Amino acid sequence: MFRPGLDKLPVYGVEEQDWRIKVDANESNRNLPPLVAERVEGRLSYVAFNRYPDIAMTELREEIGRGSGYDIDNVWLGNGSSEILEKLFFLYGGVGRSIVFSVPSFSMYAIYAKISESTAVPVPLEADYTLDKEKILRAAEEHDAKLIVLCNPNNPTGTAIPLTVVEDIVRRAKCPVVVDEAYMEFYGETALPLVAQYPNLIVARTFSKAYGAAGIRAGYVIANEEVIAMLRKVSMPYHINKLTLTVAETIFQMRDEFIPYIQQTIIERERMAAFIETETDITVYPSSTNFLLLKVEGAGELAKYLASIGIAVRSFANAPMLENCIRITIGTTAENDEIMSAIKRWCKGAK
Ligand SMILES: *Cc1c(COP(=O)(O)O)cnc(C)c1O
Repeated sequence: MFRPGLDKLPVYGVEEQDWRIKVDANESNRNLPPLVAERVEGRLSYVAFNRYPDIAMTELREEIGRGSGYDIDNVWLGNGSSEILEKLFFLYGGVGRSIVFSVPSFSMYAIYAKISESTAVPVPLEADYTLDKEKILRAAEEHDAKLIVLCNPNNPTGTAIPLTVVEDIVRRAKCPVVVDEAYMEFYGETALPLVAQYPNLIVARTFSKAYGAAGIRAGYVIANEEVIAMLRKVSMPYHINKLTLTVAETIFQMRDEFIPYIQQTIIERERMAAFIETETDITVYPSSTNFLLLKVEGAGELAKYLASIGIAVRSFANAPMLENCIRITIGTTAENDEIMSAIKRWCKGAK
């Protein structure tokens, strides 16, 4: 028999097929910049495959620490920030212990709460998907929360929490606060400098979105030394493989090469938002990320229409608080042109 409740868990399913335009998973619309790819290839040819990776992952942690203004003891790594988040739920949650997060947000939070046997305390966002900090703090207080998770900017709504609000929550919370900054590079504001000031602040980052490396599974966390020491205890030995360490190191060292890509994505996001707003009746939510959330009567049908012409988007048509919403990752200029005209065609009656 499996542990009770686990068989009811949903599978994190994505429809894998040869999409012509894949804008359903918030990945980068381009592979690594050529200079980075070249360096990666060079370094991979020196990897000693017969040896285990460095157990302390010293080089990459030092590199990230240096680049973020922290010490190696403030940095830990995961197979994607997903693994870090799961470990944090495990560290702070458990039977009878509450974890507070907003909804709608990253669907995995509820699943990590479940598998860590924690009590999930979902706090609804406002109607425009902004966050009311008093509601978060009140829920944390009422449930004696052991952890608060803030997704900033938020997936799938695209909305951002101003840094002053994040700081206020961190300052007033009686428990640790994780800020999941998976899309931070498209927003520009980060809670990272506050880690020095607030021992209860934990910042999670990923290589999967702005750094175009979803394929290597790498994420990192910056926090107080005690938190990092605990994460280290609950991580498997050698949990990050050498290939990932090598590629992530190169990407982090050469992260400036991604700035034009990030800027291009922001420009394209605004171009698409303006087009959809002026050319259709679809509601476009303001976004601080690399995707747009749209609300339209018949969203499920629109998603099907786009799929029928080879375009994969993420449909939330029937999800609570996201009724009639679809999420579209920003693609390349040519891809976005095609997506925009397809949406306009559908609005004019194409099926
Ligand atoms: C994509 C994403 C992540 C993590 O992705 P990894 O690939 O596991 O690093 C974490 N949080 C949010 C909100 C995301 O959208």
